[in-house]
Amino acid sequence: MQSSKPILYGGDYNPEQWLKYPEVLEQDFRLFEQASINTLTIGVFAWAALEPEEGVFQFEWLDHIFERAMRQHMRIILATPSGGKPNWLAMKYTEVRRVNELGQREPQRARHNHCLTSDVYRDKVSIINEQLAKRYGAHSALEMWHISNEFGGYCYCDRCMAAFRDWLKAKYTSLDALNEAYWSRFWSHTFTEWEQIRYIDKTICGLVLDWKRFMTDQCCSFIRNEIAAIRRDSPDVPTTTNFMGTHPDYDYHKLAQEIDVVSWDAYPMWHLPQDNHESNHALNAAFRHDVTRGIAGGKPFLLMESTPGQVNWAGVSPLMRPGMLRLASYQAIAHGSDSVCYFQMRKSRGSWEQFHGAVIDHVGHANTRVFREVEQLGASLLQLDSVVGSLVSAKVAIVFDWETRWIYEGVALPSNAHKQYAETILAHYKPFWARGINVDIVDRQADFSKYELVVAPILFMLSDSLGERLTDFVKAGGHLVTTYGTGVVNETGLAISGGMPGALREVLGVWVEEFDALPDAYRRQVKPLDDGKCGLTGVYEARHHLDLVHLETAEAIAVYGEDFYSGYPALTRHSFGAGSAWHISSRNDDRFSDDFLGYLADELKLTNISSSTLPQGVSVQTRSVANAEFVFLMNFNDSSVVFELIDGIYTDLETESTVERTIHLAAYQTCVLQRRLD
Ligand SMILES: [Zn+2]
Repeated sequence: MQSSKPILYGGDYNPEQWLKYPEVLEQDFRLFEQASINTLTIGVFAWAALEPEEGVFQFEWLDHIFERAMRQHMRIILATPSGGKPNWLAMKYTEVRRVNELGQREPQRARHNHCLTSDVYRDKVSIINEQLAKRYGAHSALEMWHISNEFGGYCYCDRCMAAFRDWLKAKYTSLDALNEAYWSRFWSHTFTEWEQIRYIDKTICGLVLDWKRFMTDQCCSFIRNEIAAIRRDSPDVPTTTNFMGTHPDYDYHKLAQEIDVVSWDAYPMWHLPQDNHESNHALNAAFRHDVTRGIAGGKPFLLMESTPGQVNWAGVSPLMRPGMLRLASYQAIAHGSDSVCYFQMRKSRGSWEQFHGAVIDHVGHANTRVFREVEQLGASLLQLDSVVGSLVSAKVAIVFDWETRWIYEGVALPSNAHKQYAETILAHYKPFWARGINVDIVDRQADFSKYELVVAPILFMLSDSLGERLTDFVKAGGHLVTTYGTGVVNETGLAISGGMPGALREVLGVWVEEFDALPDAYRRQVKPLDDGKCGLTGVYEARHHLDLVHLETAEAIAVYGEDFYSGYPALTRHSFGAGSAWHISSRNDDRFSDDFLGYLADELKLTNISSSTLPQGVSVQTRSVANAEFVFLMNFNDSSVVFELIDGIYTDLETESTVERTIHLAAYQTCVLQRRLD
């Protein structure tokens, strides 16, 4: 069971900023050793240092870093430098700079703003990547390739638009088919020549959806181009690229297919008030960790960046309170990370992130509060080797789908002001998180058959095949929960004909005739038909979006309590095959979600580690190997808590002492228990 790999601990290090200060670099490595740092991410924005002039390469400084890291048995995650282009490149080859939606080419500035289509940029990236791979691709300290950095954004240059037209021709074959798919006779938008597609008209929903699909494909192709240049001299070293949680620009599930290991950069805004409780940041962070694990297909992922202190790019960034760094780091591991990595190892003296948190501050020594916490955490992580490679096992899947989000957010609806796709998914995640129930966040392509419960909020875009797969899932004994906004458009954004929710109509047993949209301050009552039925008691509040539902073969569990649709079904259940399908008609208050999804969790016996009433702000997550389970206990409150685990034999992984069922956690405390599975 013992893993041979440690938790990767370290992060982004930029020695190229300190080449004139060799004593600083030497001091850094001493401090790394002191803090049990075992991994450095090098070169993320080092292109100008590696290739100061076109075709002139300087690797001596990087040779030294590799050699110095080797002496301390450290691992290096080597980045390709394409996230930031050097001035000589941007000035000589202007085509590498992005063009905005209005056709204006951007000046050279900032970062992450290169054209994904430019052959020149791809060639220049290939050249520097080949050089890096030749020199370091077989180096024993090389742990992984870090492809570029935080991919995002779109370019609308002539090359990108021409490539988009080729992509559309391959997809639709004829303009007639494209016009039909986009319903483009509306407003006389019919395309009569391919060349007319030169601009992304946001009023043509299918065009916008295809553009985002294309840009995702273009990013995939860009990543493939980068990796091909590496592979000639570094055939076996795994690749990653750092994602950004639920960032909307590209479909991360597709990008993930191009790399070996999924990683992401997590920056929760700890300690800022959010919805009246600080622990909502923990909920948000947990959700994004689970999104990332879903992108990784359930495999462990890497926390590639996090701050050991404050960020400096938000309006207000409080200091992390003592204990928060360890808690946030353990949370990542609890949800499936095999690393804790920071941005940045040493705080830069100048430019944009000079006051962004770092392991080593401008003062330059170890006697800082942050460094001491980093050092203590490093020592703790040495006890977690056995967790590396273990998996998160979940019986619940929640669908969070990039394309569904794109089309839902792109279509003009009566409820434009309150679409809230990501927030709605999070609201359905919260009841499970609060009960310590592991959840997989999956996209619409997932294999649902391995789950007992699938919750698919706002499944706005619904193909016949997706409807069939979900119907088969219920028929075989699965339990499905859908919500308002389901089965509204097809995969090119056309309204589903024949009645909402389209291909889910049979399994849900309802027809949604229309939906009401309410201003933010308005509420409508939702009441169970029988108080206490399916966990529902008293009166709940619906807001923003209310489906007006007709029962076909389903039964009503709750109904609206006012307005002309008083008595219309607000929650329905349909027993179908060996399973059941539920439809929530309206956006309800948190108490409704907690009562109803908590009821399903109890019925399906999804809780297996804690009582179902964890204190607010306490999270329990598990990872498991063949004969043991690692139980992560986390208190995100600034006060102590007491709660009980279910029966079992628990051992504290760090102290190796046996632990009682009754758990006391101090403010921001976390610990990992091992539960033996006999
Ligand atoms: Zn472009």
